[in-house]
Amino acid sequence: MKRFNLLIILLLSIFLTDSCQKIEPIVIIPEPQECTPKKGHFTPDEGTFLCFSNIPENERDMTNTIREQYSKFFKLTPNLGDEESAGKNSMLFEVNKKRNEALGDEGYELIVTGRRVVAKANTTAGLFYAFQTLKQMSYPSQLAEGGKPTIPCAKITDHPRFAYRGAHLDVSRHFFDVNYVKKYLDMMATYKLNKFHWHLTDDHGWRIQIDKYPALTTKGAWRPERSKWDTLHPVLPDEPMTYGGFYTKEQVREIVAYAAARHIDVIPEIEIPGHCSAILAAYPQYACDNYPYTVAVGPYWPPKAIMCAGNDGVIDFYKGVLEEVAELFPYPYIHIGGDEAFNDNWQVCPKCQQRIADMKLKDEMALQQWLMNEIEEYLKTLDKKAIVWDDIVSEDMVNMSTIMSWQDPKTAVIAAKHGNDIIRCPTSHCYFNFYQNDPKSEPLAMDGLITLETAYSFDPMPEGLDEKAQKHILGGQCNLWTEFINTPKQANYMIYPRICALAECVWTDPSHKDWKKFQNKVEMHTAFRKR
Ligand SMILES: [Zn+2]
Repeated sequence: MKRFNLLIILLLSIFLTDSCQKIEPIVIIPEPQECTPKKGHFTPDEGTFLCFSNIPENERDMTNTIREQYSKFFKLTPNLGDEESAGKNSMLFEVNKKRNEALGDEGYELIVTGRRVVAKANTTAGLFYAFQTLKQMSYPSQLAEGGKPTIPCAKITDHPRFAYRGAHLDVSRHFFDVNYVKKYLDMMATYKLNKFHWHLTDDHGWRIQIDKYPALTTKGAWRPERSKWDTLHPVLPDEPMTYGGFYTKEQVREIVAYAAARHIDVIPEIEIPGHCSAILAAYPQYACDNYPYTVAVGPYWPPKAIMCAGNDGVIDFYKGVLEEVAELFPYPYIHIGGDEAFNDNWQVCPKCQQRIADMKLKDEMALQQWLMNEIEEYLKTLDKKAIVWDDIVSEDMVNMSTIMSWQDPKTAVIAAKHGNDIIRCPTSHCYFNFYQNDPKSEPLAMDGLITLETAYSFDPMPEGLDEKAQKHILGGQCNLWTEFINTPKQANYMIYPRICALAECVWTDPSHKDWKKFQNKVEMHTAFRKR
């Protein structure tokens, strides 16, 4: 009888202890592939050991980012340790000794118990993503009374659906300084995006120092300050060119390093052959005509400025620029534009027509293909590959560069069947410069509407591709064109929370997406951002 009573008391005490520990909400964006919540939570404190194990020698720096984020986020001084010290009250980040194929290059496994946290991955990128997940898991506790960060217990196995998960930022229409670009990268990293497409050149300003062509930044980076984007009148002769800016090479290196520490590759875009008013303002000799080009102010449509494809100096110019650009960016891809190249000037330019005749080209469209191919071949000599907008896609194209598909999904299908790799960012789902709600209640934005729900319904994989062609779909990205976005505050307003939707579309398997759950998670994330 006595024994029986003891057993009851023991069972009761276990039950009571357990029932005090409830399953806590887990609000991870993008949704992990597998997540099993458990009862209880882990609370990091001053005694917690932050442990790293089996980190490759040349990637030791990567642990610094986790360490810094740990200090900043949990407001704790990390007690550093290794595998040996990863016992009770520790967070262990370990690169697998034997590769776990199911996790790929960016996946991770995470086990959180009341005693400790163990994160395992094949790479330091996977460990970094595990840490982003841990941070987000603590949001609800930080919003609760007391605000002490705790991490709910769970077992998570996660990996991305697509290898290319990007966000684009146009710094030409309005210039954004280094500080903001870093904040943008921070937001990307939080949501496990790994490609930053930096739109550095356009009609409205050239934004990167090029030593061989200094006027690109002394002249091409500046325009008159106008209070409203929608007021277009030409630049007056004596108007001060005070609005704009550019990144020095030192600042570019700083951004690239900052991104790399967050496992983000930076893809610079140098627009060829259109969107070039800023170049022609600085170097008018590269135009087909004698028009007095200026850095464009306000709306400029259709953009008629185009570089003369019949002028060898233009080819040399691009090569000179790209040689310097290639040195600054370690990622093997450079975006060379190719969109919206209105070729009216080519049609009447003797030099361009001569080039068409010399090269036995069909027409001006073929001249653009020829020019893009010339540049792409040159990039190969620099060990770089080209990304181009899908404007050049046609059934009979010869170009094998990676295609950034922003228009009809048909272009993605044609290009994928042709064998080109594809990055998808259709205007229907990924242009976050469009309105996100009823324009009547919103600040002025680009005409078009992409609600959070529309953004969330994006599937980077277009219909109509067989298994072989599907492999050419690398992933997707959101684009932030900044005609109507002139402050960091407005940029954040436009990008967030739609960037969360994009992140889930490119990371999470469609079978694990859930619009209703996503809305609740966004609510929690927004409250956390505002706290
Ligand atoms: Zn020409």
